[in-house]
Amino acid sequence: MTGPHWYPAYIGLGSNLQGPARQLEDAFALLHEISQTRLLRYSSLYRSAPFGGIEQPDFVNAVAALLTQLSAQELLRELQRIETARGRERGAVRWGPRLLDLDLLVYSSQTIDEAELTVPHPGIAERNFVLLPLGEIAPDLDIPGLGRVSNLDVNLNEPAISKLVN
Ligand code: ATP
Ligand code: CA
Ligand code: CA
Repeated sequence: MTGPHWYPAYIGLGSNLQGPARQLEDAFALLHEISQTRLLRYSSLYRSAPFGGIEQPDFVNAVAALLTQLSAQELLRELQRIETARGRERGAVRWGPRLLDLDLLVYSSQTIDEAELTVPHPGIAERNFVLLPLGEIAPDLDIPGLGRVSNLDVNLNEPAISKLVN
């Protein structure tokens, strides 16, 4: 008796408005509630300086590992539904302030290059706020095109990042 396959997926979370740490804690719970999906583990919260040259509050970032029976496209729709439910306004400035950003970083060993969905997420290797939390929960993860997370170098020219202590 075999059911649908469970695929590992990694989600990057970010917030810099209205209690970012709390936004992320709530988001972990909402990820667990996605149908046909389980939250396996999540990283510590990390504080990082904003990126993209827009004057705005610091971000809090984290990464979560899921197991899901959904396709990558279905999972992205669920992530966008959660962003919207949490008050994210779509169509706002890219890299601008937001209540909640949920990026699909990695989906199984798939490579996807569609108008609405690029997997692995193209920003992984250059973003310390992704590399550090991912290294914490999944150092052995082999990312298509990039290799093992633990072999990826932290970017010394990127904004400072630190673990958030409550
Ligand atoms: P970045 O993707 O560089 O981190 P961002 O998160 O600010 O920027 P958004 O405004 O949240 O960008 O999303 C813009 C679009 O990116 C979405 O409408 C979505 O269709 C598309 N997209 C493509 N690949 C992905 C992915 N792997 N995860 C999330 N969204 C993606
Ligand atoms: Ca993002
Ligand atoms: Ca996004």
